[in-house]
Amino acid sequence: MKILILGGTEEARALADALHGMGHEVLTSLAGRTSEPLMPKGELRIGGFGGGDGLGNFILTEGFQRLVDATHPYAVQIAENAVKAAELSGVRLVRLVRPPWTEPQYAFWHHVQNSEEAAAGLPPGARVMLTVGHTDLDVFLERDDCSFVVRSIEPPQHELPPHAQSLISRPPFFVGAETELLKRELITHLIAKNSGGVQTEAKLLAAQTLRIAVVMIARPELPPANEVMTVGRAIAALRLNER
Ligand code: NAP
Repeated sequence: MKILILGGTEEARALADALHGMGHEVLTSLAGRTSEPLMPKGELRIGGFGGGDGLGNFILTEGFQRLVDATHPYAVQIAENAVKAAELSGVRLVRLVRPPWTEPQYAFWHHVQNSEEAAAGLPPGARVMLTVGHTDLDVFLERDDCSFVVRSIEPPQHELPPHAQSLISRPPFFVGAETELLKRELITHLIAKNSGGVQTEAKLLAAQTLRIAVVMIARPELPPANEVMTVGRAIAALRLNER
């Protein structure tokens, strides 16, 4: 069967590997934000489709029979495009989204709805570890009464102001090193998205050990879709034995 996976996550890669191993024709699509992405098995294409209509037309022209949205839980636009494209093309859509982290007992999580609320809630003088990629960086950097360590996989697109420093590194991260980093940088607040998964979870455990406040930005609401949380369930939900 011909399957299009909208990727950019560890789960997307695992699903592509599994489906390829089962003998299906898999194409993984990436937005192209990461310069050296880890390669899934099967074919790869990079770059947008031109909205939901563009994606729907691509599916029809290329003869795909299934669509998987395995993008990041905070990638709202592509999730909306996937729903629209599935309606337009009539192919079965499965959304694979990993489960969110849950707040451990005795942790200090402040739950906020968005970056604006996260930035506004920081006390003056806070020393902040920012782990939200490049999203809404400016919203945080406007707080020049705080200082920031901006950790990301790719370097920031603009030079950072004096109250912020860039730290480029790539997951997986481990508890020992994360604890050292938070201590060394004298971090008082950790700002994170609720991405879920094991690759970036260590910062939360480190923050908990050090009694550092975690500001957790809630997941955005995505349009309704057939949603599953594991690769195995995604394979089942694709109903690959049906036409
Ligand atoms: P977004 O705002 O939902 O999407 C913006 C546009 O990027 C889409 O309209 C689409 O362009 C293109 N696009 C996104 N994902 C694509 C894919 N897998 N293949 C082809 N085109 C794609 O997405 P985003 O937040 O910028 O995230 C981009 C990618 O990075 C996603 O694949 C996501 O899984 C990954 N990522 C995002 C985050 C995050 O926090 N947002 C974190 C880690 C990884 P067209 O309309 O032209 O098709």
